[in-house]
Amino acid sequence: MRRVSIFGATGSIGQNTIDLIRRDAARYDVVALSGGHNVAQLARDARELRAEVAITAYEARLPELRAALAGSDVEAAAGTQALLEAASRPADWIMSAIVGAAGLAPGLRALEQGSTLALANKESLVCAGRLLMQTAKAHGARILPVDSEHSAVFQALVGERISEVERIIITASGGAFRDWPMERLQTATLAEASSHPNWDMGQRITIDSASMFNKALEVIETHEFFRVAPEQIEVLVHPQSLVHALVGFRDGALMSHLGAPDMRHAIGYALHWPDRRHLPVARLDLATVGQLEFRAPDSARYPALRLAQEVMARGGLSGAVFNAAKERALDHFIAGRIGFLDMATITEQVLASLEAQPDLIDAAMTLENVTRIDDLARQAADQAVLKKTG
Ligand code: NAD
Ligand code: MG
Repeated sequence: MRRVSIFGATGSIGQNTIDLIRRDAARYDVVALSGGHNVAQLARDARELRAEVAITAYEARLPELRAALAGSDVEAAAGTQALLEAASRPADWIMSAIVGAAGLAPGLRALEQGSTLALANKESLVCAGRLLMQTAKAHGARILPVDSEHSAVFQALVGERISEVERIIITASGGAFRDWPMERLQTATLAEASSHPNWDMGQRITIDSASMFNKALEVIETHEFFRVAPEQIEVLVHPQSLVHALVGFRDGALMSHLGAPDMRHAIGYALHWPDRRHLPVARLDLATVGQLEFRAPDSARYPALRLAQEVMARGGLSGAVFNAAKERALDHFIAGRIGFLDMATITEQVLASLEAQPDLIDAAMTLENVTRIDDLARQAADQAVLKKTG
């Protein structure tokens, strides 16, 4: 029996992970499931999978969770400390699928006890890539990528040496607005930004796909995870989302990974690694697909990609600033306080103001320092929004 935990179990990645585990439930012993406000779903899944503990991130929800779990053997818990305690429970495999920087601390805790961490939470690599990688190394733990592009790169690298890699190309669908005229983007509504042409994902990553902030995070994720130089990483717009990534080697060969846009592919690869097992995903029929389209990203349309380059060049804790400013700008867009294009403007302003403070940006990469600068960047984003909206 494999002991598994899922952080962010009620979300899009979490539910896809549960789907795979449910199909083969006898092989797994579920330790912890975590969620947020969706307590009913969390309790239902925890009961069905006979989890040891179910944790909601929000303490105010604990009574509701307790009530929903009454009469079962599942423990109910709530809050940040409870999440960390659950991440410390021995498990062979832990899915990190909380959205945002909140996934960092539980991910580190999971690595500290030597678990294999299946990492969907790209934000933690962007905020503290080196810290995560060093923690994994120090504790003999392993990180397996779950982002579809990074899983694709990881698979293309099986049996290869990273020193022979010339470039890594990650594809982007271009999001909801890839064919919109530039002038229309600022007036894009929340509903328009919340629907993705190919993937069915959580709301935040869907909006980040429309703005390309998601791809910007993924470029930094590629840099942190595979340790390749920023100039070796390319983004290619591929509207069909069938080719997830390509790896170019020094002899000019390009190895690519193709598959239907279904996250159970990447989740299942990380779950069964290093084996491959049957997965319930659609098989691609390329004759029916007929053509694959590619184009270069339009840099005027996607300022987030330029910001990612600046963050990688600056180094230090600028990734944490970038992510936190982006998360906060996204909160303000969702709340209707700023327009779609303002998210990039605000993020850029926050980066400029905090990068001017070397004592902050160049502080050691510890959880404490990352948390501190994350807070400061969120405050700076709030101030920038206030200034803008009066
Ligand atoms: P989602 O919004 O559907 O789910 C997020 C989960 O995190 C939920 O369980 C929620 O309760 C929990 N959560 C939210 N805020 C929290 C907090 N402050 N503390 C603790 N828990 C909290 O998100 P998602 O689309 O499943 O994405 C999860 C992660 O996976 C993100 O990092 C995202 O970038 C990444 N990812 C998602 C996809 C996808 O297809 N959805 C693909 C690649 C990568
Ligand atoms: Mg991705």
